[in-house]
Amino acid sequence: MSPAMRRLACATRWAMSDWVSFPNGTRGRLSWDGEARLAGRWQALLQACHGQDMRPHCDCLWQGEPVPLVVRRRVRQQDGRAVEAFHLARFPGQGDWHAPGCPFHDPDPARSGRGGYEAGVIEEQADGRLRVSLDQPLRIMARAQGETPPRAGREPGAAGQGGGGQSRMSSLGLVHLLWERAGLNCWSPAVGRRRLWWTGVRHALEGAASAILPARGASLADRLAMIGYGDEEGPALLRETARSCGQEWRLLLLGVVDGIDLRQGAGGRFTAVRFDGAQAYGLRVTGDAALHERLTRRFPMALRALGLARAQRRIRVVGLAIASVRVGCDGERVTMGCRVADMVLMEVTPETLIPVASSHELVVATRLVAQGRSFIKPLRFDATRDVVHPDFVLTDTGEARGTPMEVFGRDDEAYAARRAQKCAYYTAVYGQDRWWCWNAVAQPDLIPDFPARVGGPPHG
Ligand SMILES: [Zn+2]
Repeated sequence: MSPAMRRLACATRWAMSDWVSFPNGTRGRLSWDGEARLAGRWQALLQACHGQDMRPHCDCLWQGEPVPLVVRRRVRQQDGRAVEAFHLARFPGQGDWHAPGCPFHDPDPARSGRGGYEAGVIEEQADGRLRVSLDQPLRIMARAQGETPPRAGREPGAAGQGGGGQSRMSSLGLVHLLWERAGLNCWSPAVGRRRLWWTGVRHALEGAASAILPARGASLADRLAMIGYGDEEGPALLRETARSCGQEWRLLLLGVVDGIDLRQGAGGRFTAVRFDGAQAYGLRVTGDAALHERLTRRFPMALRALGLARAQRRIRVVGLAIASVRVGCDGERVTMGCRVADMVLMEVTPETLIPVASSHELVVATRLVAQGRSFIKPLRFDATRDVVHPDFVLTDTGEARGTPMEVFGRDDEAYAARRAQKCAYYTAVYGQDRWWCWNAVAQPDLIPDFPARVGGPPHG
């Protein structure tokens, strides 16, 4: 087969799709779970084959055979009753059997910051769930027993470990893991406007959290509450999670942040954190004054955006707060006071929730979406700047490993050697002309054309 023919064959095989075939012959789309109208139908499809011998499968082929998927069930408490939910997962060790455009594809860790961890920080269990070793304790230890205060969030790339890996996962690494496992760092035109429906985003994050094990006997989903605008079940879920955390566990709050301000209170200055949609939750989130300073220093792009009026913000800011929680009441209404021990932020594009690390990346992500492209945003996790990983990977070019994209955001002499090193790396690993780059400083108005899409117009 000629190279051109082989690429074409690959393109057909690697076509982006979130269609799933069920043993009874029905087909459904993973994205239905994120759509109010179709989520019930999707859940019924999964329930019907949970625990059955016949497995659903995606459209990927591995050695000529469809790649099977597993249906997982989880039960959570909601307003005092057990509610069950189902989600689909790939089988352990089969992440690279799935095509780059498939939602079950697991990118090579070496192609994101995930490769920067020491062995054992993320361990895949036999059932496919991930045991992670966090640097923030989730258990609140009694002061009398010698409490060690939670370590302050580490600065990215400041771990001082040189070429060695990170021995624990920071809270930022955890947000990246959640985002990646929920598929929220992938985009295709088929996703459409679904990321604007917070309930659907929450479903995806819950599925991811239930497969992450931060401590013995508990999954992350037991400690994680998602805050979002217009999510009917959200407030009841937060109350339930807060109650089960009690005085013993810290709660993880995840949502889009609307404001982080320094305020003056009776006991001195404090940081007030406002999540988007939080009013419906009776939620008050505060931290000490130093929290504001830490976040301003570590996440300048996010804090700059939050300083603008909502309509002027070009990005949205996702926040994860690890906090102790106190459940109280205000008349009839249940209130929750959260005191933040550690908080991290992640900048995302407003409509797609794709993480972007700079204004240049925002330009590229926006243009990719406008042009109907499919791509992955590899995340940095806790890796130092020495780890080379692409800023984006196009998944619709027919290349088996996708097409890496690099945005050079500096043009000074000190950076020249680094840039040359990256260029040499991509050329060696992917081949000449099989990767894309833009020197955003030298040629801010001249974004090179993106590598061509294979397989005709995007399908929705
Ligand atoms: Zn697949």
